[in-house]
Amino acid sequence: MTRLSILGSTGSIGTQTLDVVDKLGLEVSALTAAGNIELLEQQVRKYKPALAVVFDEEKAKELKLNISDTETKVLCGMDGLIEAAQLPRADLVLNSVVGMVGLKPTIAAAKAKKNIALANKETLVAGGDLVTDAVRENGVKLLPVDSEHSAIFQCLQGIPDKKVLKKLILTASGGPFFGKKTGELKDVTVEQALNHPNWSMGAKITIDSATMMNKGLEIIEAGRLFDVTGDNIDVVVHRESVVHSLVEFTDNSVLAQLGVPDMRIPIQYAITYPMRYESPVEELNLAKFGSLSFFEPDYDTFECLRACKKAFSMGGAATAIANGANEEANLLFRQGKIKFLEIGELVMGAVDNIANFTPKCVEDILEADAAARRYVKEHI
Ligand code: MG
Repeated sequence: MTRLSILGSTGSIGTQTLDVVDKLGLEVSALTAAGNIELLEQQVRKYKPALAVVFDEEKAKELKLNISDTETKVLCGMDGLIEAAQLPRADLVLNSVVGMVGLKPTIAAAKAKKNIALANKETLVAGGDLVTDAVRENGVKLLPVDSEHSAIFQCLQGIPDKKVLKKLILTASGGPFFGKKTGELKDVTVEQALNHPNWSMGAKITIDSATMMNKGLEIIEAGRLFDVTGDNIDVVVHRESVVHSLVEFTDNSVLAQLGVPDMRIPIQYAITYPMRYESPVEELNLAKFGSLSFFEPDYDTFECLRACKKAFSMGGAATAIANGANEEANLLFRQGKIKFLEIGELVMGAVDNIANFTPKCVEDILEADAAARRYVKEHI
């Protein structure tokens, strides 16, 4: 039986992971949250993990008091997250924290020889080789949870040799602003940007879908996971989110993975790989959809998508810079402090204007991230 540590257990992916845990009857070793201690307490009482971590120190103290009648140990901050990632009892770490904060725990999990189910794309985008090297050097598996990357991973099972892989084709829903031009996006509100057509997700990633930053991050994530350059990764807008991504081989044969848009399929596959089990997800009824639509992505309107492609081709710290600038700009937009289109301008500005370099350690990545955040704050 898999013993699982879930980083980010109160978020959208975290709660859906616990659905899968219920269905499969798995053991939970550690649970962590940014600050939602009400939900975390319910989870601790139900799953009885050895460790619960709250990133916020004050809230961690509160939780400790509230669950003092249980056996669960409570920790806080980055040290707590790292301890959760390295817990001896766990054999798989599912990392679904939001943002760069997931970088150190991912590397810590690899060093502790834990297999990693990765929903936290930002750490792979920012951390790059540092993450993939740690995974390779420690002989652990890095299993994608992101639906597109899980689709590609599933399509690649059983290929005889990586040389037969020609191209990855990532599908994108296009988000709430598909078909709109720059002029129409000047005054969009946070509420409009949070209104995603197909997927129910956390606020940060939903805004990233509206700007198409999410797809930009996913190009980089796919490149790093499957060792493919940006030139060999295409994006196609697919409004129904039924085809989760595709793989093209040297003979121009294309494989795709399909399913209803429900994250519990990729979450479960990452946990049970290479096995498959029944899941609570609805069956796909293609006739019900009737037709599926596909369109070229609009690189002119969605500047974030362009900025990510550029950062990925630059290499080095550029992807950490693009990610850091976006994390800051995305937050400022949600706080009502900048306009929607400024997110793309700030991300591109950071990529173009901050000196690129080759990061040698995690501290270098954190420095690039901090420089990008400073750039955004200085340019609003
Ligand atoms: Mg995705």
